[in-house]
Amino acid sequence: MNVLVVNAGSSSLKYQLLDTDTREVFAKGNCERIGSDMGIFGHSENGGAKQTEEVPFPDHRSAIARVLEELEKTDFTIDGIGHRIVQGGWHFDDSAVVDDEVMAEILEVAPLAPLHNYGEAAAIEYCREKYPELPNVAVFDTSFHMTMPEVAYTYALPKDVCDKYHVRKYGAHGTSHRYEWMMAKEILGSRCHRLLSCHLGNGASLAAIEDGVCRDTTMGLTPLDGLMMGTRCGSIDPATVCYLQREGGYSYQEVDDMMNKQSGLLAISGISNDARDIRTRASEGDERCLLAFDMFAYKAMQQAGSMIASMAGVDTITFTAGIGENDWSIRKAFCDCFEWLGVRIDNNKNREAVGNGPQVISAAGSAVTVMVIPTDEEYMIAHDVERLTKNN
Ligand code: ADP
Repeated sequence: MNVLVVNAGSSSLKYQLLDTDTREVFAKGNCERIGSDMGIFGHSENGGAKQTEEVPFPDHRSAIARVLEELEKTDFTIDGIGHRIVQGGWHFDDSAVVDDEVMAEILEVAPLAPLHNYGEAAAIEYCREKYPELPNVAVFDTSFHMTMPEVAYTYALPKDVCDKYHVRKYGAHGTSHRYEWMMAKEILGSRCHRLLSCHLGNGASLAAIEDGVCRDTTMGLTPLDGLMMGTRCGSIDPATVCYLQREGGYSYQEVDDMMNKQSGLLAISGISNDARDIRTRASEGDERCLLAFDMFAYKAMQQAGSMIASMAGVDTITFTAGIGENDWSIRKAFCDCFEWLGVRIDNNKNREAVGNGPQVISAAGSAVTVMVIPTDEEYMIAHDVERLTKNN
């Protein structure tokens, strides 16, 4: 089945047209700077060079319109469209074929992720109008986590407030964590039972997955919670927000920007949110960059401990996303913290695993199998489109 996967962010939109049987990618590209009259459109076909041009992208509709216009110039067919939706809120515990009711629910939960859901909904609407005969499937970052037990997802806040505003842990990166489970299970079979999935990119989260069911995850009501990330602070004392507003005179928006865009690796290193830049400076002995990595690994290790406890053990650990797939030092620092659990990595395999597809990096005799499994959220979304539409 040929599926167009649309991944709309707050100011960007990425797409891929791929075959679910062969995983061949026919075309892919991106629209950057949505909301500006100086947008950039990039498109490539059959693995060829990316062609770029400047296009005004006033909104998400104009971006998806440009993508479909470009695809219409090709001979590729589209059998269905899959849309990544950041927040499914309390409505979705699985991906859903889009109809009017699903659209209304995506918009109803949008206040939980206003920078994302509205733009994503606009892209779906455009696709439905343009190709009414094609199925559109919404794939939510949150739905995989809806299996968490009440003790894990409930915040110890007044119940009436939580009920009224739908405050609870929703998590994110669910499509990636689900892919990690699917691949680990496919490769390890019955040896994989309790998986700690580590998605370490610019955004980063962990998930505790027992027999395919998510038991807990580190992101919360929003993706700000949990691990230290590229520009997000992760878990801190929530009173810090009130303190900064009261004593520092920061507005709500300033604190929101600070914690989401000016914190994490960027704040600690003082130079960049990009792990590659920080790695270069750390290797030259820059103390703030060294601290940034130490903190990143420490906080990941500490929260991994809580994930492991929430599923009462671990037999498999997977690393994925930009840092998890590429930075062997972070993997080593993290795994060395779990020697007491019997985790042993093979240093050569760990170093060689950089970008080479799924690899086992644990040593023979390790009590836990450790793997690098490059994530493929686009494939997972396309796979859901096929799963939910093929019998219709
Ligand atoms: P997101 O999808 O959340 O934007 P990615 O999964 O693309 O993030 O990860 C981005 C992070 O991965 C950046 O910090 C980047 O520096 C890091 N990264 C990418 N490639 C490498 C590499 N070869 N070595 C170390 N870090 C890398």
